[in-house]
Amino acid sequence: MEHNRPPLIALNDVSRRYRAGDAEVGALKGVTLEIHAGEFVAVMGPSGSGKTTLMNIIGCLDQPSGGEYFYGGQPVHSAGVDDRARLRREAFGFVFQDYNLLRMVTAQENVEMPAIYAGMRKRMRWARAADLLSTLGLSHRTGHHPNELSGGERQRVAIARALMNGAAVVLADEPTGSVDSRNGKEIMAQLAALSERGRTVIVVTHDRAVARYANRRIELFDGRMTSDTGAEPGDARVSAAPASRAGAARIQAPVASLAESARTARRALRGNKSRTALTLLGIVIGVFSVTAMLGVAQGMRNSILDSVRQLGGSGITISPRFGEDSKPLTLSDAAAIRSQIPNLLWVAPEMNGGGILVGAKNSESARITATTGRAMQERGLLLAQGAFFDEGHSERYAPVVILGGLLAGSLFGEQARPVGEYILISGEPYQVIGVLKRNEATFGGFSPGQRAAHVPLMTGATRLFGRDNLDSIQVVAADTDEVETVQNAIEALLSRRHGGGAFRIANQAEILEVQNNIGRIASLVFGAIGAISLVVAGIGVMNIMLASVAERTREIGLRMAIGARERDILTQFICEAAMVSGLGGAVGLIGALGLGALANSFTPVAVVVFTPWILLVGLSCATLTGVIFGFAPARRAAGMNPVAALRA
Ligand code: ADP
Ligand code: MG
Repeated sequence: MEHNRPPLIALNDVSRRYRAGDAEVGALKGVTLEIHAGEFVAVMGPSGSGKTTLMNIIGCLDQPSGGEYFYGGQPVHSAGVDDRARLRREAFGFVFQDYNLLRMVTAQENVEMPAIYAGMRKRMRWARAADLLSTLGLSHRTGHHPNELSGGERQRVAIARALMNGAAVVLADEPTGSVDSRNGKEIMAQLAALSERGRTVIVVTHDRAVARYANRRIELFDGRMTSDTGAEPGDARVSAAPASRAGAARIQAPVASLAESARTARRALRGNKSRTALTLLGIVIGVFSVTAMLGVAQGMRNSILDSVRQLGGSGITISPRFGEDSKPLTLSDAAAIRSQIPNLLWVAPEMNGGGILVGAKNSESARITATTGRAMQERGLLLAQGAFFDEGHSERYAPVVILGGLLAGSLFGEQARPVGEYILISGEPYQVIGVLKRNEATFGGFSPGQRAAHVPLMTGATRLFGRDNLDSIQVVAADTDEVETVQNAIEALLSRRHGGGAFRIANQAEILEVQNNIGRIASLVFGAIGAISLVVAGIGVMNIMLASVAERTREIGLRMAIGARERDILTQFICEAAMVSGLGGAVGLIGALGLGALANSFTPVAVVVFTPWILLVGLSCATLTGVIFGFAPARRAAGMNPVAALRA
């Protein structure tokens, strides 16, 4: 046949080989073929002769192993993945033997799908799909799901879908193979009508009767073309203008919008509720633990800082260094500081020890601090009953004691008022002169006063501990600005008395800094524990996404066949993962906030403290986990070969 115009499709010595184990199967062996715009071609041949392989190569679902393929004069055999996806989207419409409709969406939505990847606006898409369905006599079936349609109806939905983006070439691979003869005739009539209106139609069939609709018949046998009737001469359609209808679906956006990906993701997640719920649970627990742990660490940090702050902004602590050359810090050092250093508000030497305390009800071993009433007050300790010591108690070595709130409760019983009563400490009677209020942070054991007993300094030194070396001296400067000067003066004094470097002298700011570091380490450790559970949750997300990809292989193949790019598929699956983890993250966060509030309602000070920063970390951890762990499965889905995926 002589044609003046170049062919729409030109195959030149095209071959396709498959590896089957060690052997190679030649599915196509050097096919040379030209098809012009407007032709209606029937491809025939026995099963296994290479018909599907030929269709897949023409439709850019598959690539030739050898030879050349030109579409509209442009080389396709060397085109990249995105260019081939564009051709599938804009130039070709596929109709498969087994329909390949998406089960979870309606006929209308199935038809609209190719236009999503072409970036057509929703309203326009909807109208065009409704129009196509009505042309195919399916306006009463638009809202039905595929399983509510007959075979013939399903195939007509598939034809509508193939036409959605205005395909110039309709490729139908045994479209009547799964329907009865009446419906088969109907489908062939539809394809003939498309050809009538100028579209190029290529149909694979076994049926001679079906093939009669076509104006050209090609026979394949064992991968080779064995006969070709050629275009019928004088056929007006062949010389008709090329039916490039891609204009009908003018492209408005370069990719399917994120909103579409999100919609698809939501549908997929809803499609398998129990699996989604389990993934959600993993993320909820993960984010809950990260957030709660960080909140607890922050609470700890706050309560440590509060306790340290109670020393006052101008406090200085002197304590002996431990080690071989340690020197004792003595009462006379305290006296020297008090008498020789100017600008001091107060000086409080302290000794610590322990003992067995025997009360009216119970006995208990407790920490005992020998100190002054002033130091206790300055530290922010408050009395529930009684009074603090005065100078006189210490000077007289008076056997008096102030009990921590919890300690008093356990020695005398919760209801008792022990002031005025006696207890035994190391076998000697001491009169209780005060009980501390239970108003301290009691979290994490950081309640120095609550389980301890306090005795006057000299009482402790002489009666209880029998020594005069101190555990610490607390000094408070009269003026916050003087702290440095006072600290230096003390350092000089003590090194005159004992030699340099014998003691640790730290001011409030330094202590705060150390405590702050402890708090930071706590945050880190707790955060890490939380992060581990988040990683476990992430692995759960990955597992479930992989299962989802495996289960939906056919769907992925179909989406690619109708023109989805690799990045459309990638976006869709990442979107799915991010959605599960974002939602799980939000729930976990709310849970952590709720539990924190509950815990705090049982304690006088907040033990769980959430800063905006913690909440941000919690939520972004969740979403990041989803995206990071969802990436590998999404990558796998996007990298699938469309033909292999469709065969799954
Ligand atoms: P038809 O559609 O005419 O029945 P196909 O094009 O599907 O034939 O297959 C042609 C030949 O290529 C057959 O022998 C088939 O077994 C082989 N083949 C097709 N796809 C693959 C594949 N993915 N791997 C290995 N062999 C394949
Ligand atoms: Mg086949």
